[in-house]
Amino acid sequence: MSPAKSVILVTGGSGLVGKAVQWVVENDSKYGQREGEEWVYLTSKDGNLIDPAATKAIFEKYRPTHVIHLAAKVGGLFGNMAANLDYFRDNLLINDNILFNAKEFGVKKVVSCLSTCIFPDKTSYPIDETMVHQGPPHDSNYGYSHSKRMVDVMNRAYNQQYGCNFTSVIPTNVFGPHDNFHLVNSHVIPGLIHKCYLAQENGTPFIMAGTGRPLRQFIYSRDLARLFIWTLREYNEITPLILSVPEEEEVSIKQVGDSIVKAMGYTGDYRFDTSKADGQYKKTASNKKLMSLNPDFQFTPFDVALNETVDWFKENVDTIRK
Ligand code: NAP
Ligand code: GDP
Repeated sequence: MSPAKSVILVTGGSGLVGKAVQWVVENDSKYGQREGEEWVYLTSKDGNLIDPAATKAIFEKYRPTHVIHLAAKVGGLFGNMAANLDYFRDNLLINDNILFNAKEFGVKKVVSCLSTCIFPDKTSYPIDETMVHQGPPHDSNYGYSHSKRMVDVMNRAYNQQYGCNFTSVIPTNVFGPHDNFHLVNSHVIPGLIHKCYLAQENGTPFIMAGTGRPLRQFIYSRDLARLFIWTLREYNEITPLILSVPEEEEVSIKQVGDSIVKAMGYTGDYRFDTSKADGQYKKTASNKKLMSLNPDFQFTPFDVALNETVDWFKENVDTIRK
């Protein structure tokens, strides 16, 4: 970024990843605030990004030079399965409004957020950045996945037609402070932390969904935030970049459950409800491209990140999103 004043607009600033970006900007000596940067964190109270007029008014008000685009309708496996159309439409409209206005207002760079669930269901492993459009996504979240794939299509087309510098990143499953701890419409880690807490409090069984066999890579929201900021400053391609821990750090849902039990200090029984869906078996992603560009990046160990998340959950249990 140029040393002249930059206005960096973070859409979805009140969410899991947006709050982590704010934390890194305010606390991290390497990736944090630099001279001349003004960071603006949007929430849905600043305007509904599904609405073209509200989105335009936000760009008129802040005149951003850069955008980190996080705002989205986000849910875990069960939320997606119940509402594929809503996930498709809301995200398609939000993304179109953001990129269209970024072009209209001459934004120098946009980094949008995709997800590893957008990759083809039937594929070879590890998955890499070249495979985004190579086959249908898993059926459980095809609405969300197709809307996110269209961001990559738009980025390419905005660059081709107007020379815009719009790119995207592809994170794996994210967790951390400020997550959505809803019992149904959340991702597995926040959902299970909340369920484990209730089991401990009420002396009821702690039940996880599915078989526990699926495999996932998890990224701590603060690591993802550091990498988002690095991408904004250093990554110069339109094509997406996978932001993931190494393949060797993939864990089963059963291992996640065991780690949550340990981090929560839970002493009761726990089991799996195999009548509930497993979703995609795995989506092992390669971080080779990332590590070739940012070889010194250090990921927070999973257990350290999980303990920080559980501590945050316990401190904020009365006000968490649930
Ligand atoms: P989140 O915690 O659910 O936060 C969503 C954010 O988007 C909130 O700030 C919310 O504002 C805002 N938002 C939602 N709908 C909006 C609308 N119509 N108008 C304006 N703002 C709206 O989500 P997150 O987990 O931080 O996700 C951030 C990005 O990462 C998303 O693009 C998501 O697809 C991607 N991602 C997430 C994961 C994951 O595991 N969480 C994995 C891969 C990729 P309010 O708080 O005001 O409602
Ligand atoms: P995904 O990575 O996009 O599939 O999303 P999730 O974060 O929802 O992870 C889903 C995996 O965790 C599936 O294998 C689920 O069966 C399993 N799982 C176990 N318990 C839960 C739970 O309480 N909530 C969620 N969302 N998933 C769970």
